[in-house]
Amino acid sequence: MQNTLDRHIYRPADPEYVEACQTWALAADLRPAAVAFPRSRADAAVMIRLATSEGLRVAPLGTGHNAYPFGDLSDTVLVRTEHLNSYQADTAAGIARVGAGAIWGPLVDMLGEHGLAALHGSAPDAGIVGYALGGGAGWYGRAHGLAANTVTAVELITADGTFVRTDEDHDPQLFWALRGGGAGNFGLVTAIEFQLHRFRTAYAGMLVWDLREAERVLPRWADWARDAPDAVTTAYRQVQYPLVPQFPEELRGRNLVIVDGAVLGNDADAERVLAPLRALRPRLDTFRRMPARALSRLHLDPEGPSAGGVRTTLLGELPPPAVDRLLEASSGSSLVVTAELRQLGGALGRPAPGGGVLNRLDGQFLLLAGGVKVGPYAERTIFDYDRTIDAMEPWTNGRNYLNFTQQPVDPSTGFDPGAWQSLLQIRRRVDPSGVFRSNHQIPLI
Ligand SMILES: Cc1cc2nc3c(=O)[nH]c(=O)nc-3n(C[C@H](O)[C@H](O)[C@H](O)COP(=O)(O)OP(=O)(O)OC[C@H]3O[C@@H](n4cnc5c(N)ncnc54)[C@H](O)[C@@H]3O)c2cc1C
Repeated sequence: MQNTLDRHIYRPADPEYVEACQTWALAADLRPAAVAFPRSRADAAVMIRLATSEGLRVAPLGTGHNAYPFGDLSDTVLVRTEHLNSYQADTAAGIARVGAGAIWGPLVDMLGEHGLAALHGSAPDAGIVGYALGGGAGWYGRAHGLAANTVTAVELITADGTFVRTDEDHDPQLFWALRGGGAGNFGLVTAIEFQLHRFRTAYAGMLVWDLREAERVLPRWADWARDAPDAVTTAYRQVQYPLVPQFPEELRGRNLVIVDGAVLGNDADAERVLAPLRALRPRLDTFRRMPARALSRLHLDPEGPSAGGVRTTLLGELPPPAVDRLLEASSGSSLVVTAELRQLGGALGRPAPGGGVLNRLDGQFLLLAGGVKVGPYAERTIFDYDRTIDAMEPWTNGRNYLNFTQQPVDPSTGFDPGAWQSLLQIRRRVDPSGVFRSNHQIPLI
């Protein structure tokens, strides 16, 4: 492959190669055959043709928020989309159009000025394409479902370098597979379009207790979360905040229990919904009406490259014995920096009419346990968070939410069995030679 000046392709011998391999996930050790940075859709098509003409495969990459599960890339060109980062909104129609390299923060800010909101997640610097085509469960999830089901069109370059625009009327099968099937299994997505919601504000914030209160708060939150109305989506977590300036002073260096989230609707209804949690007397309560655009940073997720990593699992239910087990597994001296439960159900649990392959998430809660995966304690950290997740095995439902799964797993666990068979067929049709590599690969069988 030629290292042409305008196409920005780096091979292992190039001095820029090491930096070109570095992604958001600092602990992901990617060593592809080459790294390419297209500046346009035409560039990307040329890069794909160049790669295949040399017998190489292609792995599209956005930010690298889920770069961990790729595995061996020695026969693969990593095509990084960060320069394809356009943001547009048709405010009258309530539709956004973003390029492959777009991230959530700037779009949420832009939409906020027009009274529009999108189904973003907790990380403002996660890639919109990777997030939305892998599912996308955020603060409005229980009210409005997965982001994948708001997608109205996907544009991509397929294995032979052809540009395809797919929507309900153009290759509806591929359009179905892309909405939740993981973008990188079918081609290099250059842009997506999706439906927005019209609201300017939400009642959102966090309730904070000392970590010693976990035994009192978790059982009550779990009870409350099961029966809460769809208008509210929250997350419960036990977190050890490092003593670093990027966190607010009242959290920095402390071990805490936090429930954060958002309620859609008026103040009186929101206050009624949150009353049982407020009755648990948090030491800090920041819930209030706030601009919707503030929600992309509500969870204080790390921005920029991060040494953090998580393991996740879907829990079918969280009865009192499971709550006890989680408290036990996450207590004591542990390098787990965060043990977190995201509240699912509501519209996240119901099949979205006309939705894609992942039209719902199966499970009541998504459990995450995470810590720092770089440095001398990395191995012990992974051991500790594996232990936390393994302890909850009796309550898992055998399914994985692949978007948030940073370890290689059987990808069929991401889907209903019938849907998986259809995904296999669509992948065989769209990418018969297996050019594309995704982090959770749909195999060619
Ligand atoms: C801190 C953090 C917070 C998160 N919060 C949430 C959350 O609130 N809700 C939620 O649902 N998920 C969340 N996630 C998971 C997140 O949605 C996934 O990691 C998602 O894959 C990120 O997309 P990306 O493009 O940034 O990642 P990447 O690692 O760049 O890509 C992920 C996958 O998408 C593919 N891909 C990316 N771009 C393209 C493209 N243009 N064409 C084809 N394939 C492409 C890649 O090949 C790869 O397989 C979070 C993850 C992290 C690390």
